[in-house]
Amino acid sequence: GRLVGADADGEDQAVEAALRPKDLGEFVGQERVREQLDLVLKAARQRGATADHVLLSGAPGLGKTTLSMIIAAEMGAPIRITSGPAIQHAGDLAAILSSLTEGEVLFLDEIHRMSRPAEEMLYMAMEDFRVDVIVGKGPGATAIPLELPPFTLVGATTRAGLLPPPLRDRFGFTGHMEFYAPAELERVIHRSAGLLDVVIEAEGAGEIAGRSRGTPRIANRLLRRVRDYAQVKADGVITREIAARALAVYDVDGRGLDRLDRAVLTALLKLFGGGPVGLSTLAVAVGEERETVEEVAEPFLVREGLLARTPRGRIATPAAWTHLGLTPPQQGGA
Ligand code: ADP
Repeated sequence: GRLVGADADGEDQAVEAALRPKDLGEFVGQERVREQLDLVLKAARQRGATADHVLLSGAPGLGKTTLSMIIAAEMGAPIRITSGPAIQHAGDLAAILSSLTEGEVLFLDEIHRMSRPAEEMLYMAMEDFRVDVIVGKGPGATAIPLELPPFTLVGATTRAGLLPPPLRDRFGFTGHMEFYAPAELERVIHRSAGLLDVVIEAEGAGEIAGRSRGTPRIANRLLRRVRDYAQVKADGVITREIAARALAVYDVDGRGLDRLDRAVLTALLKLFGGGPVGLSTLAVAVGEERETVEEVAEPFLVREGLLARTPRGRIATPAAWTHLGLTPPQQGGA
């Protein structure tokens, strides 16, 4: 996988369980969501009720799965984890829903990618704790109503706007997860280093945090790579110097750009004078697919204020020239 990619790879999945905060108090940052969720859960507990359905929106790696586990833990309930793409047919969903126990938390990742019939079944399940299971086909088909125990759905999506309004409206609470500030990522890194038994200096954590793209998953991954380097090339202690050298080896620069990000930016600046240039032309210049440039490299470059998408094409911002240490061509001169 890509070292600065936000989706979980195999190694992440193996290690992340050990690094997950277990309760709201351990969960770093996201003050608003944490405070709101704390109220929702406390109130439900006081009433002895099942918590309202919760929608969590935000980029991959920001802690949505972790929060859903914390919700279950705080409610003293078991949790079932699945995802929209895993639910192809309404029957798949019916099977999951009918096997839930009272108060159980159902975490549905990428809920916007569920099939339409499953989505419609979910409306009724969320609202009335009931589903209609269709038996048979054609004119002879019958709907058999099935009562469900009350449960808490925790849906996760990259953007709440991707959900059809009727689905969005059935959540009692929506939490918007933001990218993390460097100081928050430093806390994530110190916490993980402790759990992994790695000695890290404050500046070492700062160096990794600055390259982690606001994303705890990436921070934890970079920490593991820097730990390898510190162990093999030094005495195991992560200093600022060691972190910077390690991440240079892995092609992650001071702002968290990797080789692909820099290739896109370099082509835009050096070959096209900073643009505007069309996406296809830019993609050919870096030898990548359009989709790779548009979906993998650009979102972060845009977020960082290094590249802008305009109706006339891609343009570099002044910050892009500075970041790559290049001088923009003279504007409006002879
Ligand atoms: P998502 O479901 O949004 O893709 P995850 O919940 O799987 O993200 O989190 C990815 C990794 O980042 C996990 O290992 C988790 O331990 C860590 N993490 C995420 N958010 C936090 C946080 N607020 N504090 C500490 N660690 C976090």
